[in-house]
Amino acid sequence: MQGKMDPPKPPLLTENGNLEVLTHDQAVTWKDILEREKALPKPNKKPSEELINQLKAIKLEKKSFLESLRPEQAQALRGNGNKPKNPPKQKKKIDNVDEAVLAALGDYSIKNEGSVIELVDIGINIQSRYKRDDIEKTLVRSGAAGVTRVILTGCSLKSSGEGIELCQAWYGADDSNAGKFPYNKYTSTKVRVYATVGVHPHDAKELANETKVFDDKLELVRKIASSPYCVSLGECGLDYDRMFSPMETQKRAFECQVALACELKKPLFVHLRERDADKGEPLGALEHALEIFAKFGCSLDPSKVCFHCFTGDLTTLKALSEKGFCIGFTGFVGMKKRGGHLIQALSDDSVIPLDRVMIETDTPFMKPDKHWFPDATCIKKSGNNEPAAMPAICRALASAYGMGKYSAHEVGVATTQNSMKFFGLDQVDENILGTGAAP
Ligand SMILES: [Zn+2]
Repeated sequence: MQGKMDPPKPPLLTENGNLEVLTHDQAVTWKDILEREKALPKPNKKPSEELINQLKAIKLEKKSFLESLRPEQAQALRGNGNKPKNPPKQKKKIDNVDEAVLAALGDYSIKNEGSVIELVDIGINIQSRYKRDDIEKTLVRSGAAGVTRVILTGCSLKSSGEGIELCQAWYGADDSNAGKFPYNKYTSTKVRVYATVGVHPHDAKELANETKVFDDKLELVRKIASSPYCVSLGECGLDYDRMFSPMETQKRAFECQVALACELKKPLFVHLRERDADKGEPLGALEHALEIFAKFGCSLDPSKVCFHCFTGDLTTLKALSEKGFCIGFTGFVGMKKRGGHLIQALSDDSVIPLDRVMIETDTPFMKPDKHWFPDATCIKKSGNNEPAAMPAICRALASAYGMGKYSAHEVGVATTQNSMKFFGLDQVDENILGTGAAP
């Protein structure tokens, strides 16, 4: 019902900012105040004192100007000039452990006739990179995608120690960590977490110099590796591409870790990278690694050595395969451009027998091409790789290996069996959990 109680419609701002309700002089003053306010920088999280004072001054000026007007003029101005121009849009935050997202990850897991094929991610780097909350969400997502076992890669004394600590916290073995993982309630699939302990060639300097191994540091590696959660020595090896530690230092640090693996009868998780061709001639990373292994003769079983995150060429793959080593493949096999040479190399499945192949994400690195991920899994939009991306790696490997000779679930079954055997995970479960039941 229309009546005289209806509030008057506020007049509109004209193009030059003058208001019909104001006199010419008033409009000029108001426009001037608004323009000076607009010229001030937007206050960030920590605005300077000067800016705070300027903003206060303008606010006061506006207030006293509005007070000088007749009420209907002031009301009209408040209804227009004070309105924020573009109210900030509320971003809807999607929690990546929402029930629907976890269900999408479940749909995306590798299955055979409806039952999920559990996968083992043999290499992830999260313990020193992510906050506890994100670590937990990462692991919950992993379980939802059927990746029920993950191995934290130790790259330095620090990350090796943190890997073991994370395992303790995850299984609740250390009372001080009890209740640290409340998100576990989101999923019925529990993930088992293990760790490798070692020093990456980039950090070789912390374990050795050109002439000697630092015994106290090696002792520390030995101590951390004695944890029941440690399933392998590494990652250790040679990286001649980036050369963050000098070559002799890398060789020395690698050799003492190979010796430790033989002594502790642990498998070896190896990082090997030759200098990239565009940086110069190869420096002999593979030859040097084989020379080091040769020193240990029979005490080093090649089937207990995994060259992880393999990105090399056909010749290197053949050489490693002929010696009986195992190979870890990452999302590199799902990168059409960067991984093209490897996809090509794997088209002949006799290059490396399937029973010596394992898969890993190398989280947060080595994410396969986007087309491997359904939108609903929330993997595509994230910049980082994660263990929940394992089904993509399994599918990518299946399509490259022998040009699709095996189905994704066959590759999943085989690689899981290989990883369980290589790292002795059944035995570790028995040692940690007694019954082998999931935590
Ligand atoms: Zn590596």
